[in-house]
Amino acid sequence: MGRGRLFILSGPSGVGKGTLRKRALNDIKDLVYSISCTTRRPRPEEQDGVDYRFISSEDFEERVKQGAFLEYAHVHDACYGTLREDVERELSAGRDVLLEIDVQGALQVRRRVPGAVSVFVSPPSLEELEHRLRERGTEDDAKLRLRLKNAAAELRRAGEYDHVVVNGDLDEAASALRKIILDYRN
Ligand code: 5GP
Repeated sequence: MGRGRLFILSGPSGVGKGTLRKRALNDIKDLVYSISCTTRRPRPEEQDGVDYRFISSEDFEERVKQGAFLEYAHVHDACYGTLREDVERELSAGRDVLLEIDVQGALQVRRRVPGAVSVFVSPPSLEELEHRLRERGTEDDAKLRLRLKNAAAELRRAGEYDHVVVNGDLDEAASALRKIILDYRN
């Protein structure tokens, strides 16, 4: 069995990466999601071990020291990281792996994993992104401003990715992402 390929889905907070990720996992066979570790608190609908592994800052630091993360980053006001072992296990089993991570993490993975395919999800505009973040209502105003400020910086890095998918219409964006992934398999 051949090795799987690593796909990186990245882009600003609120752009719809999570929804696109779920669509891709639903639509594409033998594509698995790498569940990240985070130090942020779970949102009401989130489940430990499904959405994230919710861990303490001490546990996170320990794993950093052990070199357990393929990449990690401080995003907004928490730490997030991808476990190297999880990714390696799936790739060795011949499955493609999808990471949904921030821009700093995406750049680390690109440097460390030759052949990884990076996809930037872009909002139609910053105004639309702000609108979506407000609608989502998961952050208070200060956190939302921080996310928007980070988004503006992240958008400037879109050109460094292998592919850009504009998430205006969700069905169109999902199908563009699906096509990118399937094209690599052929
Ligand atoms: P949220 O708190 O909204 O779930 O995620 C905040 C940001 O962290 C999102 O841009 C998300 O893609 C990113 N993120 C989630 N997991 C990881 C990870 O393992 N590594 C990195 N670098 N970013 C992550």
